[in-house]
Amino acid sequence: MILMTKDNLFHGLVAQAANCVRCPEMCERAAVLSELNGSINARVMFIGEAPGRKGADRTRVPFSGDQSGKNFDRFLDSIGLKRSEIFITSAALCNPQKESGANRRPSANELRNCSDFLRRTIELIDPSIVVTLGGVALETLKLVHYHEFKMKDDAAKVLRWNDRMLIPLYHPSPQVLITSRHERAQLRDYKVVARAIKLMAA
Ligand code: SF4
Repeated sequence: MILMTKDNLFHGLVAQAANCVRCPEMCERAAVLSELNGSINARVMFIGEAPGRKGADRTRVPFSGDQSGKNFDRFLDSIGLKRSEIFITSAALCNPQKESGANRRPSANELRNCSDFLRRTIELIDPSIVVTLGGVALETLKLVHYHEFKMKDDAAKVLRWNDRMLIPLYHPSPQVLITSRHERAQLRDYKVVARAIKLMAA
């Protein structure tokens, strides 16, 4: 009898994502899911929208190589949280592009297609705290386990979801920092994550 360890199960999931062709417009892109996403034993999982063209689609490391990644690193640093202590994934694992090559939002179908990977990743990592980055990630969680939370009412609150703590945060993209949630407010939001981690450890 083969005993499936967490490692084995994760590598199986990674292989399935690497070979996935469910989204016709994403077939030429590679899913960003590997050991570069973080620790599979992490108690805190961050979920973004999708890999960016200049970021994770290129570096294979979520939130790295572009300005969103730099902002995210700064926010993690502000609460002393290391990448080795967390796992990061996204609502769509492949980079959605317009014909021009620019990033676009993943479509509803693409998010539905990829929600099975998101559900299985959450089940496997089994984090105590889930932090969504942006409205798309929060909305997509509904496909994993239904909720009625909204960014406008529930951002930076510690909520109960699927037997875990859920903290909806804003996306760290430069546009969001300019238009919706400025640097100082985002730094305050990350303090909520730090408090939740302390609560979890108590
Ligand atoms: S986005 Fe997800 S479901 Fe779509 S092709 Fe990539 S891995 Fe498959």
